[in-house]
Amino acid sequence: MARPEGLYCAAGDFYIDPWRPVERAVITHAHSDHARFGHRHYLASRPGANVLLSRLPGIALQTLAYGERLAIGGTVVSLHPAGHVLGSAQVRIEHAGRVWVASGDYKLDPDPTCDAFEPVRCETFITESTFGLPIYRWDPPQNVFDGIDSWWRHNAAEGRASVLFCYSFGKAQRVLASVDAGIGPIFCHGAVEPLNRAYRDAGVPLPPVRLVSEIERKDKAMFRQALIVAPPSAQGSAWLKRFGDYSDAFASGWMRLRGARRRRGVDRGFVLSDHADWPSLQSAIQATEAGRVIVTHGSVEPMVRWLREQGLEAGAFETQYGDDTVEADAAVADQTASAQDSDVASHAPAEQADERIDRIDRIDQPETRDESIPGANTS
Ligand SMILES: [Zn+2]
Ligand SMILES: [Zn+2]
Repeated sequence: MARPEGLYCAAGDFYIDPWRPVERAVITHAHSDHARFGHRHYLASRPGANVLLSRLPGIALQTLAYGERLAIGGTVVSLHPAGHVLGSAQVRIEHAGRVWVASGDYKLDPDPTCDAFEPVRCETFITESTFGLPIYRWDPPQNVFDGIDSWWRHNAAEGRASVLFCYSFGKAQRVLASVDAGIGPIFCHGAVEPLNRAYRDAGVPLPPVRLVSEIERKDKAMFRQALIVAPPSAQGSAWLKRFGDYSDAFASGWMRLRGARRRRGVDRGFVLSDHADWPSLQSAIQATEAGRVIVTHGSVEPMVRWLREQGLEAGAFETQYGDDTVEADAAVADQTASAQDSDVASHAPAEQADERIDRIDRIDQPETRDESIPGANTS
């Protein structure tokens, strides 16, 4: 059930992705709106341990392999792949013969950097709904990466750098693992590198990637054939000057919205998301065979309405899970902490602009108010 601290399981006395400090937290994945500092005990998936510890160093972390069962209070808890980012997990809770599953964030599309989403049968399914509107339908990822490759190839042929903005954890590694590394050298921003390292340490193969800051500032020629992967917060910053002539692009599910593309002001928008699109949300929910579905974040109302039309019991929990904005902030924090780049200070205005844009983008979507539906909070 929903408490001010987060989603709470009374039978096991633990929280899932709490946003206020608690005694015992089960973490679905290391994105900063789901994994926060301040809890006494953390439980998360073993494949996600590297990334989680790189973002929250020093936490008291216990890990479970996917599918491994652990008794907590009167419950049995296990974690199952969510296909969202490395280590992302759905939380299965069994209590008195009843099964609940909390999805965290998830996607069904193939992703070489993490385990595929596993449908888990349950009576009650708690689902995200970030892109829970019929307008959100993703092309097959291979088509999107072909598009990124041809944009990069074209720029390289013209002697122009290709700067791709995407979130530093998850999206960046998925892009790195999926583009054609034979087109030219690949560089990344200082905020992306610690995540690359955590992925490699976890055994995820990524192509060789160099840090932009290793290259002398006047050495612009180094970047003419290159793909440069940078967080959205780098957009509009002085950091970009070193590339000379460049084309820029943004990879995000929000690029599906024309207004978002326009306001981003980039040359290209690639529609690439680590969340399930509308058809995938529906098929994932159906695969659980749940009779009751609770929607957490994103387009809550349209999803609840659709679920009720399917004859399911449906409601909403109000949560503080956000979307990409928080991620962009985290990227800046990471970068400031690592201080690998001398342009850190100049990123602050870009970051603010970023937040503003993300807020405007949300207004673009009809019917996305986060509204709790009374009567749903029964657990
Ligand atoms: Zn996430
Ligand atoms: Zn989320």
